[in-house]
Amino acid sequence: MVSTHSIKLSTRGDNDIHDLTGEVQHAVSASRIRNGIVAVFVPGSTAGITAIEYEPGMIRDLQDFLSRIAPQDASYSHNHGGDSNGHAHVRSAFIGPSLSVPLSDGRLGLGTWQQIVLVDFDDRPRKREVTVQVVGD
Ligand code: ZN
Repeated sequence: MVSTHSIKLSTRGDNDIHDLTGEVQHAVSASRIRNGIVAVFVPGSTAGITAIEYEPGMIRDLQDFLSRIAPQDASYSHNHGGDSNGHAHVRSAFIGPSLSVPLSDGRLGLGTWQQIVLVDFDDRPRKREVTVQVVGD
């Protein structure tokens, strides 16, 4: 069985990080699927999905790390066409657009200190629609 859901949210851009865990769990419950796999995917090449311990220090650490590995003011060929978000595309490619989480007895197989997050790298506020697809019995 396959059950598809979406999570809509507004972001501030610039490495804005949102905890999606509660809404993903809500989608899983609504699907009534008990065992299988949950795919969380963000369409768009300037955002990413990953898992972190969602606490202020770690949020800041991840934001700082991403700014160090792909600084906004570095030179990007992408920006020669008039865009200004080359750094956002590179960060998005590095983090990746999706995460798969095992589902057992209706519960996400996450660690206690592991939350599913969306990171928006774009250089302006954005509206995002994240797809949650539950596949199982
Ligand atoms: Zn661009």
